[in-house]
Amino acid sequence: MKTSILAVGTELLFGQTVNTNAAFLSENLNHMGFDVMYHFVVGDNPARLKAKLAEAFSDTDLVILTGGLGPTQDDLTKEIVAEYMGRGLYRDDEVVEQLKGFFEKRGHHMAENNMKQAYLPEGCTPFYNASGTAPGFALNVDGKTAICLPGPPREMKWLWDNGVKEYLSHFMGKKMFYRIIHTIGIGESDLETVLMPVIDGQTDPTVATYAKEGECNLRVASQRDTLEEAEAAVDEMVKRVDELVGDYIYSYDDENLNEVVVRLLKQKGLKITSAESCTSGLFPAAITDVAGASEVLSSAYITYSNESKIKELGVPAELIDKYGVVSSQVAEAMAAGAKARSGADIAVSVTGYAGPDADPGHSAGEAYIGYAMGDETGFYAVNTSRNDRKWNRRYITLRMLRAVYLLIR
Ligand code: AMP
Ligand code: MG
Repeated sequence: MKTSILAVGTELLFGQTVNTNAAFLSENLNHMGFDVMYHFVVGDNPARLKAKLAEAFSDTDLVILTGGLGPTQDDLTKEIVAEYMGRGLYRDDEVVEQLKGFFEKRGHHMAENNMKQAYLPEGCTPFYNASGTAPGFALNVDGKTAICLPGPPREMKWLWDNGVKEYLSHFMGKKMFYRIIHTIGIGESDLETVLMPVIDGQTDPTVATYAKEGECNLRVASQRDTLEEAEAAVDEMVKRVDELVGDYIYSYDDENLNEVVVRLLKQKGLKITSAESCTSGLFPAAITDVAGASEVLSSAYITYSNESKIKELGVPAELIDKYGVVSSQVAEAMAAGAKARSGADIAVSVTGYAGPDADPGHSAGEAYIGYAMGDETGFYAVNTSRNDRKWNRRYITLRMLRAVYLLIR
């Protein structure tokens, strides 16, 4: 179904607020099989809102609007939509009760203008909002559907999960099933080239690649008469994808790398430690972002200076003199030292140049990741060829996670 998203709010045009609602809705609508054709943004202006609504409906059957449902004078989305679709407004008792309760619970007096939010277009399907005050609604007239949602992203998402998604699922004659596969270690263009045999000439299931920071995801989707058929078609295609690029895949279920690593460490009952210089703390931060990290993280060393690498990890000073501090030898020695001193089962380490500058003969983004597990130690060389400090630190952290993943998968 052809769909438009129309975001309402002058702050969006000023650049004060980023239009994250459109991104969220687009991603989720596409996942459900809707064809999002247009994004519109319009200020809090009745004439221009009406014009864009007309333009959106001229070429698409579903228009999702966000913003402008609040209690103030400049909130006019609901009024314009109702007028455009030829409907009056009625006072919805359930919203009235909810508004009263909302303010009572907080011990606030309800300003009179809040009652404006209790009015909804005649014949609409309301989406009652337990995460805020403004309800959303869907209004279907002569095969055209407008869905209005509040602007605050938290409320918009809450309504999406609690009503809108279910409402929209009835629009699709066919059922959509998809899997998001995460890969790391292969660029998007290489991934697409290797997958060409399954991507070329595809109709259903579809396979699409999209780059995420430092990684690349794949979306395999199918629309069939039943969910079971769609799922079977997707899984059949996932097998073929697996044959082509399985080595780079770390999740078939839209999990992030830190989540996968923590899950595997837990499953195997392993404790990990890290020793970092250029990423200084990003690795344990990624691990502790996942609930239950305390079961798997034993400790974390930040050894930025040469002295601390020698003192805290027992890296031999001669090794640093001989090979330089940014070297595979030092990375391995850091991992071995961290493992021995912490008593953890696995250690991962890194030494490198975050940038933008590097020592002579080296480049920003050059790093060595060491690991130690059992009696085994080893390293990976990384070179991002970028002098973007922030990006390098994040990317190198991902590669540390990947090093651990490859050890324990
Ligand atoms: P409104 O529903 O128009 O009163 O919007 C309330 C607040 O939600 C605004 O001040 C913005 O901070 C936020 N907001 C509105 N529209 C969007 C949007 N399209 N994307 C992200 N945030 C938004
Ligand atoms: Mg607004």
